[in-house]
Amino acid sequence: MQAMVCERPQQGLVAARLPQPQPGPGEVLIRVHACGVCRTDLHLIDGELPEPKSPVIPGHEIVGTVVAHGAGVSAPALGARVGVPWLGHTCGHCEYCTSGRENLCAEARFTGYQRDGGYADYVVADARYVFALPDRYDDLHAAPLLCAGMVGYRAYRMAGDAPIIGIYGFGAAAHLVAQVAIAQRRVVFAFTRPGDYRAQDFARQIGASWAGGSDEVPPVSMDAALIFAPVGALVPAALAVTKPGGTVVCGGIHMSDIPSFPYSLLWQERVLRSVANLTRRDGEEFMALAGSIPLDVHVEPFPLGEANAALARLRHGELSGAAVLTTGL
Ligand SMILES: [Zn+2]
Ligand SMILES: [Zn+2]
Repeated sequence: MQAMVCERPQQGLVAARLPQPQPGPGEVLIRVHACGVCRTDLHLIDGELPEPKSPVIPGHEIVGTVVAHGAGVSAPALGARVGVPWLGHTCGHCEYCTSGRENLCAEARFTGYQRDGGYADYVVADARYVFALPDRYDDLHAAPLLCAGMVGYRAYRMAGDAPIIGIYGFGAAAHLVAQVAIAQRRVVFAFTRPGDYRAQDFARQIGASWAGGSDEVPPVSMDAALIFAPVGALVPAALAVTKPGGTVVCGGIHMSDIPSFPYSLLWQERVLRSVANLTRRDGEEFMALAGSIPLDVHVEPFPLGEANAALARLRHGELSGAAVLTTGL
């Protein structure tokens, strides 16, 4: 099969012909149709994530068809269209797994990081961690739901019932979360890199009530902020425009250092927290929402072999929405 492989950090991806993988007990073999490109893939390729499988095939927003079962598997059925997300495996018995927080399991294994992912014609996945996909989205448009959508949704859920939500970094996750928030009658403010008027126009087109640079002050203070950009300086910036009692949620897996800031920014019961990974419950809830709310998923398709070009466009903030690799199978 064709695959794009991360052989060593900071060297980009290398095109390779590899043997088709075989599903082990409890696993399914999936023929990949589309795989989204996530910022986490950049962190992996840049060597910013500890102890990756090496070499590793990135990609954790996978849409494909089940073509073989490993021993003991009966579902999902052969021929079923499924999605494979970031969360690839958990232990099932630790204090986190048994309390609805499998996203924090110390033995969790993640797709396209510690297990081979979807930048390939085929992928093997644990059958218990794949999702059915809403019919209203074709393969290309379903792919970003699997991380941008699901992990974005977990960040959004941590904002509680906040009526006014600011979103920092208006990329793939933000454009999906903003649509869910607006459908649920919240007001969304979008913060982009200063001077990125194209991203600000995109945010307004999605339905943001206000869009501006991250150095700008929004028209009113916010009840919550979601930070999807990997920039630590946004934390004090967001706290400064969040109301007393409001929550600032950091949604990325990696962020530059957070500069020191005066306690007054946190004082008055503001909450600062991160969100890590996702649980299967997050995924199921988000897929149910995506099935009922017609999300306008913005994608930019690339052939699998042009993964490095897609990653470069993401790195330089040149995408509106999500890059998705297609295998042509
Ligand atoms: Zn566990
Ligand atoms: Zn991701």
